[in-house]
Amino acid sequence: MTADPRLQTLPDEAALQLHADGSLRHLLTLKDLDRDLIIALLDEAESYLAPAGALPVRSDALAGRTVGNLFFEPSTRTRASFDLAGRRLGADVLNLDVNTSSRKKGESILDTIYTLQAMAVDIMVVRDAGAGVPAFIAQHVQDFVSVLNAGEADVSHPTQGLLDLLTIRQHRDDFANMTVAIVGDIRHSRVARSAACGLQTLGVGELRLVSPPAMAPADGEFASARVLDNLEDGLRDADVVMALRIQKERIDDLEGIPGTDEYAASFGINAERMQLAKPDAIVMHPGPMNRGVEIDGSLADGPRSVITRQVTNGVAVRMAVLAHVARAMGRT
Ligand code: ASP
Repeated sequence: MTADPRLQTLPDEAALQLHADGSLRHLLTLKDLDRDLIIALLDEAESYLAPAGALPVRSDALAGRTVGNLFFEPSTRTRASFDLAGRRLGADVLNLDVNTSSRKKGESILDTIYTLQAMAVDIMVVRDAGAGVPAFIAQHVQDFVSVLNAGEADVSHPTQGLLDLLTIRQHRDDFANMTVAIVGDIRHSRVARSAACGLQTLGVGELRLVSPPAMAPADGEFASARVLDNLEDGLRDADVVMALRIQKERIDDLEGIPGTDEYAASFGINAERMQLAKPDAIVMHPGPMNRGVEIDGSLADGPRSVITRQVTNGVAVRMAVLAHVARAMGRT
């Protein structure tokens, strides 16, 4: 968490991230995106998917634009995915090396942002361990700059949420008749928060959040979800099962947090346990996976798994978001 006192007062994210016509100026959270906007982004993402083995879809939607990847927290998939998405749309992509960046030398985040802005970086993709950092940056950039949240503390990971929705929709598109079980460290997970938000906007039939008590969300945080501490109840007749990693880097108080063996024994998902779910249920994981802890390796590699499809969809979703904000640039 950041100690920067300026981040204590968060701006009104809805007013900040949407243009008056409802299009996205920034993508900070899925909270203010209505169903139509989410569906439009998913549909556009579909148009960027190529058949397996074919050359990736390319366009010049971002020709002349510059995308800056500012990852102040480790990332493999998301960073590579934004990088490829930007390049496939014809943008210049700048990957800031956080280990040598000036921020490590004490430069404030805004000085870094103003520096990039002065080099005509139009789209800033930001990952930070501090809550409120993407919104804070969005508040301070010039009108022609878009800020995309690529993972914000335990708060939000909106492009992950969109790629999860796309992957689920490819399996079944009747969200109202669907049960989705998210299993794992819900309390510390931005992936769970963004997925839950998007699923609720699309009218999911039943959302289950399954975890040991020490990893459960705070009372009332997910008003319409069923919070469960028993894996069998969580998996029974589920259509979609999403396993999450224990977010050790964000857990300050280990009180009640099970060790990995204990966790695997009670909450690890494997083929046998998946028999409780619907016969055609899919298994998801945002990565990075700890095989043998939250998910069994053979299940992750097996026919129910859509984990690599999530990765493919991640590039397509990020292309859709980049193209959308680029089209919307300059609106008021
Ligand atoms: N890659 C995801 C994230 O950035 C999930 C994880 O790290 O467990 O939140």
